[in-house]
Amino acid sequence: MTEGNKGPPIERNLGENRPIPRRDFIQGALVGAATALTGPLLKAYAADSVDFGAGAQGRPGYYPPLLNGMRGSHPGSFESAHALRDGTKPGAGLDTGEVYDLVVVGGGISGLSAAHFYRAQTSSRTRILILDNHDDFGGHAKRNEFQIGGRTLLLNGGTLEIDSPRPYDAAAAGLIKELGIDVAALKKVEHPEFYSGLGLQRGVFFDKETFGADQLVVGAGVVPAAKLLAGSPFSQRARQDYVRLNEGAIDYLPGLSCDEKKLTLSKLSYRDFLRDVAKVDPAVIAFYQPRSHGEWAVGIDAVSALDVWAFGFPGFQGMKLAPGVISRMGYTPSGYAATGGSETLHFPDGNATIARLLVRNLVPGAVPGNSVEDIVTARVDYGRLDRPDSPVRLRLNSTVIRASNVGDPATAREVVVIYLRDGKAYKVRARGCVLASYNAMIPYLCPDLPEKQQAALHGAVKAPLVYTSVALRNWQAFKKLGIADVYAPGSYHSSFALNPKVDIGDYRSPSSPDDPILIRMLRVPTQPGLTEHEQNKAGRAELLATPFATFERNIRDQLARTLGAGGFDPARDIAAITVNRWPHGYAAEFNPLFEPELPPAEQRQVVSRAQFGRITIANSDAGAAAYTDSAIDQAYRAVGELLRTDT
Ligand SMILES: Cc1cc2nc3c(=O)[nH]c(=O)nc-3n(C[C@H](O)[C@H](O)[C@H](O)COP(=O)(O)OP(=O)(O)OC[C@H]3O[C@@H](n4cnc5c(N)ncnc54)[C@H](O)[C@@H]3O)c2cc1C
Repeated sequence: MTEGNKGPPIERNLGENRPIPRRDFIQGALVGAATALTGPLLKAYAADSVDFGAGAQGRPGYYPPLLNGMRGSHPGSFESAHALRDGTKPGAGLDTGEVYDLVVVGGGISGLSAAHFYRAQTSSRTRILILDNHDDFGGHAKRNEFQIGGRTLLLNGGTLEIDSPRPYDAAAAGLIKELGIDVAALKKVEHPEFYSGLGLQRGVFFDKETFGADQLVVGAGVVPAAKLLAGSPFSQRARQDYVRLNEGAIDYLPGLSCDEKKLTLSKLSYRDFLRDVAKVDPAVIAFYQPRSHGEWAVGIDAVSALDVWAFGFPGFQGMKLAPGVISRMGYTPSGYAATGGSETLHFPDGNATIARLLVRNLVPGAVPGNSVEDIVTARVDYGRLDRPDSPVRLRLNSTVIRASNVGDPATAREVVVIYLRDGKAYKVRARGCVLASYNAMIPYLCPDLPEKQQAALHGAVKAPLVYTSVALRNWQAFKKLGIADVYAPGSYHSSFALNPKVDIGDYRSPSSPDDPILIRMLRVPTQPGLTEHEQNKAGRAELLATPFATFERNIRDQLARTLGAGGFDPARDIAAITVNRWPHGYAAEFNPLFEPELPPAEQRQVVSRAQFGRITIANSDAGAAAYTDSAIDQAYRAVGELLRTDT
């Protein structure tokens, strides 16, 4: 199965050429600036004068959560970093004269947490500058906001929710609590039974390019497998194999002990397990190929059978595998299996709520209100984020291109940080610097790092993925078809779902199928046959080369084919599209298929995060775990290192 752009020639009117009347869904001053869905939106903010402070983010109406088109790693955010990677030499930088206690590179959850921890352990007057290359803060924890049909609709453009394979530890749990998030008490804002209460179930869409015919079947996970597949284009043999895999209790590795089975499964991809051990029909393998996209951002060819077992993939029911650790080094297939995982909580904009709470604390006055409930509908005043009178400043659209110790790293007492904004280089000084950015880019910022550390940092290849938010004028088609979400193994986006219902503070999710609603679609660009990291790199290149128009065409085609029988008309029913492209998505985690298991001191993330003079390294790569708690924990450690060696 190929994962490329398989959209057929458009023969019917999908509405892609119909201009979406922007006043339908965008309010405020941005309307005048953002004239085309696909346009270089940053142009609208182009600075026309030197401005060390507020810059574009200080302009009236600056409110990036409302922007549509290509978001996530949006045009304008990454080009100067790539130029640096490709050999462009950074200039000396115009001296801003600014001196800080701390400069944080990266305004994601890790960078914002680093600022929080540093201030908490020093003083409220501590001067901190946070620099981020995007037009919004939060990193992956990105808010998508839509004004449609007179109501505000929210969705996570990246980080979905508080959720980790491990219970949050003291640093992460402490921060969440300090921000006022009582996970257990707030569970009541979620309504996980809402759609099932309306009789909506999971659908599976078989596409004709992969399975021979376009067909939607309804009731996955609820109706027996044989019944579910009765209406599918699967052959008789594929149906039998699917039923055997899902409902059989077969021990596919008889004669081995539990640990021997786990070891075997850890060295076998799930694709190879299906093909060579369970010996299922190729159509069943094609069916499962993207099933791992959401959790690992790669297909089942690059995820071990042991890892997917821990997530409840089928085929292991008869194998008597006990939960837990399998090796001397402590490799656990998934922490979920060993610990049950963390508590979970989904805010309407995902963990962007955490980022916004951090910013509210760091920059008083920038985010109105004082509770978790009211922050969901609060409008951030971006003009207040970078003011000279504020001890903590958050400067957006600013790509750091150099972070250097002044003098010998062993004795340095100061760092110089150079960043690019609007094509110009600026210089600031500080007593310390936390790099809460991407590990793989750090060697370009700090070329003096020891070679071994640089090699380890380069090895942190993040997995690319896309969360697409689509605003629909209503969800009658979902109601008619009896579906709330769809798994689409051969389609451009491998799944999509109605936005989970969450009512918090003044925010009310849609409740009637006549209401406008948002759906979230998942796409992961993969190239089965390559190693995981080769696939990640190829996928990243593909993402950056794919124009918004290609996404839009595929989205319209996919929704028309899947929902058409329910009366869905993409030309009429799609109100807006936001493609959250994350070329540097999930942090690289240990993958037993491609890497030897090393003792802790030799592991990539441990070698990578060594302190370098007055520079320390946070971000989720430093924990080799693509989770919010890892981003927070690493910030805590990095700040601790800096403060312990502050003279
Ligand atoms: C689509 C998606 C869904 C996810 N869902 C979940 C989830 O449900 N639960 C969960 O716990 N985790 C989830 N994660 C993982 C989680 O989001 C991350 O682990 C965490 O948010 C990472 O935070 P961070 O601050 O380390 O990195 P980031 O969020 O990437 O922030 C780093 C910031 O630094 C910026 N930066 C990089 N280089 C520079 C530079 N040179 N100059 C200036 N700025 C720079 C980056 O552009 C970015 O804005 C998800 C991740 C993705 C991509």
